[in-house]
Amino acid sequence: MNLFGLSRSDLLDLVRSHRLPDYRARQIAQWLYRHHADTLTGMTNLPSELRERWADEYSVDSPRPQSVEESRDGTRRYTWVAPGDDIYESALIPDEDRLTLCVSTQAGCRIGCRFCLTARKGLRWNLSSAEILGQYRNLPERDRVTHVVYMGMGEPLDNTDEVMKSLDVLTGEWGYGLSPRRITVSTVGILPDLERLLDESEVNVAISLHAARREERLPLVPAENRHPVATTLELLRHRAQLGLPPFPGTGRRRLSFEVVMLDGVTDRPDQAEAVRDLIRGIPARVNLIPWNSFPGASFQPSSRAAVEHYQRILKRSGITTTIRESRGQDIGAACGLLAGKDHAHMSPDAPEVAAVGLRGQPE
Ligand code: SF4
Repeated sequence: MNLFGLSRSDLLDLVRSHRLPDYRARQIAQWLYRHHADTLTGMTNLPSELRERWADEYSVDSPRPQSVEESRDGTRRYTWVAPGDDIYESALIPDEDRLTLCVSTQAGCRIGCRFCLTARKGLRWNLSSAEILGQYRNLPERDRVTHVVYMGMGEPLDNTDEVMKSLDVLTGEWGYGLSPRRITVSTVGILPDLERLLDESEVNVAISLHAARREERLPLVPAENRHPVATTLELLRHRAQLGLPPFPGTGRRRLSFEVVMLDGVTDRPDQAEAVRDLIRGIPARVNLIPWNSFPGASFQPSSRAAVEHYQRILKRSGITTTIRESRGQDIGAACGLLAGKDHAHMSPDAPEVAAVGLRGQPE
């Protein structure tokens, strides 16, 4: 069993199962997440007899990056290898005084968004919390990272248990101790897991909206079938009325909606008006994401003028709306382009979404 990636409650369960006092869990956590120990034998404040006994049963393993590439704009793309040789990737994005790490939660993805290259791989592997956290722990620039976003390969809430565990370790004061305000999890809005994310963590949440009306969202995000955005909005509106997270009383936690800008599809003025009407009354911001084209895609990126016009429509209604810059495009590290170099498993069409919501590893 691998100790790296275990949450606080996992470690407490572990030491209690060995009839050890609770403070041993804290000691192990400090070795794992503060001192970055690689072995049990290095955990010198544990009794030597315990370390020897555990050495056969427990390991401390975290994945190392397989390769790194750097873009002209300074963005770096790291690749990692999952069991079965499936590749997953992270992007490290420098921006003035920020250094943002974008992590993957799955190798591939089964949500099937039509504008996303990752979707074409289908789901290959659900990353364990060790594999998610390893992207932070073994990053050469780890100590300079200011923000972590769960926006790489995969849908975080299609792998919720491992994602929650990784958030617990990233933000716990006994773990890496990062501020939850500097962490954002992006999701297409899978219920009831979204409620769990809102209740059990304090991280920022970004909902991948793309289009407000069902008939226009469905062809872009097939998960709309099982997880309609109208239901997600109903939930958020209800929580806003009750003052439940992420709304008042929960500090500066941020909720945002993401819209990928596709020429003539999502960037039309009527689409902006529909988004404005849909999110009315919900304290949230909107991020407009330039689309990064790839071979075989049937979309075109929006013009700057169309994106700015869309922004003006929302801003006129008092909705904070930002236009994201596209980064790392030349090395395939930009939004929606993380798909690994091993494209052999890709299907020409995005996979169907019937299995979304299932748990465990793909068959
Ligand atoms: S955009 Fe995100 S959720 Fe959609 S297919 Fe790509 S990785 Fe999956």
